[in-house]
Amino acid sequence: MASEIKKIAVFTSGGDSPGMNAAIRSVVRTCAYLGKECVGIYRGYQGMIEGDFKPMDARSVNNIINKGGTILKSARCEEFRTPEGRKKAYDQLKKEGVDAFVVIGGNGSFTGALKFNEEFGFPVIGIPGTIDNDILGSSYTIGFDTAINTVVDVIDKIRDTASSHNRLFFVEVMGRDVGHIALNAGVGAGAEEILIPEQNLGLERLLDSLKRSKASGKSSSIVIVAEGDKIGKNVFELKAYVEEHLPIYDVRVSVLGHMQRGGNPTCFDRVLASRMGVKAVESLLEGKSNLMVGIRDTKLVLTPLAEAIKAHTEVDEELIRVSDIMTT
Ligand code: ATP
Repeated sequence: MASEIKKIAVFTSGGDSPGMNAAIRSVVRTCAYLGKECVGIYRGYQGMIEGDFKPMDARSVNNIINKGGTILKSARCEEFRTPEGRKKAYDQLKKEGVDAFVVIGGNGSFTGALKFNEEFGFPVIGIPGTIDNDILGSSYTIGFDTAINTVVDVIDKIRDTASSHNRLFFVEVMGRDVGHIALNAGVGAGAEEILIPEQNLGLERLLDSLKRSKASGKSSSIVIVAEGDKIGKNVFELKAYVEEHLPIYDVRVSVLGHMQRGGNPTCFDRVLASRMGVKAVESLLEGKSNLMVGIRDTKLVLTPLAEAIKAHTEVDEELIRVSDIMTT
């Protein structure tokens, strides 16, 4: 019942993403505003099992809206996958007097929350925090905007050096299963080709495209490669392949790696996180549970967690078309 919720826990789980701190801040301050107690749980489900809690008030979250990472730390926790582990977590929450929780994370974290609710009837709400933007039920996840801006920024710099030497660069970006980062940052940075997990362009088309680039007088070429690209070759294999078939190119590789997860969140991510935190707490207090807060057409929406975890988001076909036209 809504009126019975007096204390809400908040934690971050799975991979971290920029803007998680802004979401924590929002949950904590909304609780304070509405006269509810709030506790932070360190290290996600692992900290829940160990009872690693910290009471939080409005002042506990001063000066964190601009910080990347998560002040509550994040973790992966094998024990929470077992019924015994979840029972331990439940006992710790009860001991602390927690009535509901807000989990900031991705699909795995939501699956855990859903199981927890099924087993103990414990109210849970999810906030999507992941740079991959791969969660059904939200057009944007917290951290995605920051990540694509980071990638665009780096590619701009790579372009400077690539043009000076007439080089071809393969830039690997995150995205094992989805190509949202590659596609958006690729279009934003004017990449010549974008290789994503959802679409197999084929090596022939890549070579043709690079030949055309050279023939049209381009001084540099940048190919963005998502980690899980469908061609099935990693960036170093692609470099070897192109060097063998197109010796005119001086090929370099850049793997961006974890820098994509770091950095100060963009204003977009801070605002999104602030809005989602308010909605999460208000939803719990309205007696709602098993839902994820998302955004669609600038409006906040709630999606059943069971639906959100079902599948990955679809790739944006219109953006693929734009990318094709831009690389003419
Ligand atoms: P990311 O975007 O980084 O993948 P995520 O939330 O999907 O974020 P996971 O590592 O998949 O990250 O999950 C985080 C934690 O959620 C796991 O370490 C585990 O504790 C819990 N979890 C994941 N899947 C399950 C499951 N099927 N049952 C119970 N708990 C789970």
